[in-house]
Amino acid sequence: MGRLFGTDGVRGIVNQQLTPELAMRLGMAVATFFGEGSRILVGRDARAGGDMIVHAVIAGLEAGGAKVYYAGYTPTPALQYCVKNFGFDGGVMVTASHNPPQYNGIKVIGPLGIEISREDEKKVEEIFFEQKFRLASWSSLVHDAKPFPEANEAYAKGVVEHVDRSLIASKKFKVVVDCANSVSCLTTPLILRMLGVKVVTVNGHIDPTFPGREPEPTPETLEETRRIVVAVNADLGVGHDGDGDRALLIDEKGVVWWGDRSGTLLSAYIVEADKSRKPRRVFTAVSSSTLVEEYLKPLGVEVEWTPVGSVNISYRLLEKGGIAGFEENSGFIYAEHVLVRDGGMKLALWLEMMAREGKRASELFNRLPKYYPIKTKIPMPREKALKVVEAVKEAYKGYRQVTIDGVKVFGDDWWVLVRPSGTEPVLRIMLEAKTPEKAKKVLDEVKSIVEKAAKGV
Ligand code: MG
Repeated sequence: MGRLFGTDGVRGIVNQQLTPELAMRLGMAVATFFGEGSRILVGRDARAGGDMIVHAVIAGLEAGGAKVYYAGYTPTPALQYCVKNFGFDGGVMVTASHNPPQYNGIKVIGPLGIEISREDEKKVEEIFFEQKFRLASWSSLVHDAKPFPEANEAYAKGVVEHVDRSLIASKKFKVVVDCANSVSCLTTPLILRMLGVKVVTVNGHIDPTFPGREPEPTPETLEETRRIVVAVNADLGVGHDGDGDRALLIDEKGVVWWGDRSGTLLSAYIVEADKSRKPRRVFTAVSSSTLVEEYLKPLGVEVEWTPVGSVNISYRLLEKGGIAGFEENSGFIYAEHVLVRDGGMKLALWLEMMAREGKRASELFNRLPKYYPIKTKIPMPREKALKVVEAVKEAYKGYRQVTIDGVKVFGDDWWVLVRPSGTEPVLRIMLEAKTPEKAKKVLDEVKSIVEKAAKGV
């Protein structure tokens, strides 16, 4: 059987892999999966073709007898918040998140607001590929899709309820928000205004051509934004991705900090602010730095590594419990709120931390141990990449390893992750060390192991 779902939903170039026909059949499969009469909330980001894909999905959902509610333009975390808090049976989000502008995609959300599990994705795929659609009889097709315009405001209120509004307002912060010309422009400025924060927006209007920057927030794509943070004397900057579940933070000096750094500090803050918070556990993907453990373990916080992909973190939090989950790409899950990545919630919590601790953003980030990162990738088919991973395991036999997604090796003042990409035929190498010289040395060593193993297969 074929596969539809990748690491995070169905993705493709719009009108090439992702056509309205596919979207409609997926809508029929999703309605069949949730059952006739189920109430499904649908939303979209700002991407080209979103209107066409949304209407095709809605047609399919209705054909399967679902009752459809349509939120229109909304961030993924807002849709997920509303699915959970308004008692919907499920949701469908039309988005390609951080992918380049020509992509679009479809995420299927379960009743707790979390993307459906891998097992449930397989069930939807089986219905889709084997055409086991259950179409509703005419007498069930009497519910037109209803608008659900309150999603963005309800979500913003939900975020604000989870932080100390008056404490944050008392600091009169100024924050630069880069909305990537997509749907977070409808919520993050609103959240900040409700928190009494002065907002400067960048790329703050909806535009599917993404004129400001690529939808993925990185130190490179946020180059202009980080300069604006410094130029307007802001206390903080934030760059969202195309659907608003990521929030990459920029300190007042214009330095962009990856999500494992901000996630570590936020997790420490959550347990310090409320000592009774249990279980004192966080989940983070193997692509995060080992500084997560180095910083959080002395605070009595257990760190559990997960495979890459935020859905893995959501389900681990659901099964085992914990205070938070996060990824190096800047996704952050605040377990008190909804068990999904949420850019608006992360930002509000960060401002509360700055307010309570009375520290500037750069001072907070400089509490962390300093590591020098190197990221590289080597093109090779997945088969070969898997064999290379085995060779790396063997070469570092004496070291502590985590092998749930490729292999992560823990040295004393360095670490390395070697894993096959989930989306492209490449082997990814990520490493960090406490000096640039050591980082280079580890890279050379790993590369020679990889090259030798790749030649042998
Ligand atoms: Mg996203």
